Amino acid sequence: MMIDCHTHIFLQGEEPSEGGYDIQLLKYPLAFRAARAAVSARRALEQGFTTIRDVETEGAGYGDVGIKQAIEGGFIPGPRMFVVTRAISTSGGYPLEGYAPEIAVPKGVQIVDGPVEARKAAREQLDNGADWIKVYMTHRSWLDAAGNLVSQPTLTLEEIRAIVDETHGWGKKVACHAYNGVGLRRALDGGCDSIEHGLELDDSAVAQMVKQGTWYCPTMSVYYSHKEPPDTPAGKRDRKRVALHGPSLQKAVKAGVKIAFGTDVGGFPWTEPIAQEFPRLVEFGMTPLAAIQSATVNAAEMLGMSGQLGVIAPGAYADIVAVPGDPLKDVKELSKVSFVMKDGKVFRNDLK
Ligand SMILES: [Zn+2]
Repeated sequence: MMIDCHTHIFLQGEEPSEGGYDIQLLKYPLAFRAARAAVSARRALEQGFTTIRDVETEGAGYGDVGIKQAIEGGFIPGPRMFVVTRAISTSGGYPLEGYAPEIAVPKGVQIVDGPVEARKAAREQLDNGADWIKVYMTHRSWLDAAGNLVSQPTLTLEEIRAIVDETHGWGKKVACHAYNGVGLRRALDGGCDSIEHGLELDDSAVAQMVKQGTWYCPTMSVYYSHKEPPDTPAGKRDRKRVALHGPSLQKAVKAGVKIAFGTDVGGFPWTEPIAQEFPRLVEFGMTPLAAIQSATVNAAEMLGMSGQLGVIAPGAYADIVAVPGDPLKDVKELSKVSFVMKDGKVFRNDLK
């Protein structure tokens, strides 16, 4: 009955040596990507994640709506899905990039410029089945001369406000990818509902999140899989991100920011355990119980499913997982799921 609030079933932990991110959009037919996404969905369920919020298809359009439909129809096994479809950023705010300007390449998100286009994109995505809207509020990041992490902001305050206003009008919520600085502040001033990653939450961001009830979905694990060598600018930046992220979580935990479990799996391969995130949360200040609640009752609250998901209670969905040992003593037990029931149907039973 665990919930991962930040997944990408349409990504496979792309290795640079295997073509990296770009090859997904440039060379793989959509059916190939959809077939692999179906396998990813099954992997989530096998590991006891009976619900996921999948936060964008990375150039695979509305493929997540289709996978969700196939799961709900009983055609393929998979978790209950909350989907965001295409996600939104601005010109210069998302890959593919670095190609000759004369060549039109696909983008991993829907690009908007100006509040009119921003609102229109949100409307289109909601109309086509988005349960949430996902927005990138920061894009590139680098180290300045003093060694501070700097992130390029993307949407303006007017643009994010247009998206939030539209989405809230539909009774839906907005997830904002934001690392730090100006983009993070705009996300919060714009009234977003969850901050994704939040690598460097400063005191004012933390205070604003507490005040506004904004969720924090830290996704620690994905940042530990360094792909860039340590002596390069990108390698140094990646190590700085990790160094800032833990203290950022600690600060949020201490201040009482609401935390939802999320991993960014797909950013790392689906063959790795999703539950590797739990020990990281505990390492940076959460109790094992709080970490478990971030993936159960609290995640359900964020998804607007309190009383239905993340609890064992009359009227709730019959989602249950079992692990061999006591996860309150050792959260690593959550990587050893031996029994999975979703919707009253046993999907996996290794119990002897
Ligand atoms: Zn992500």
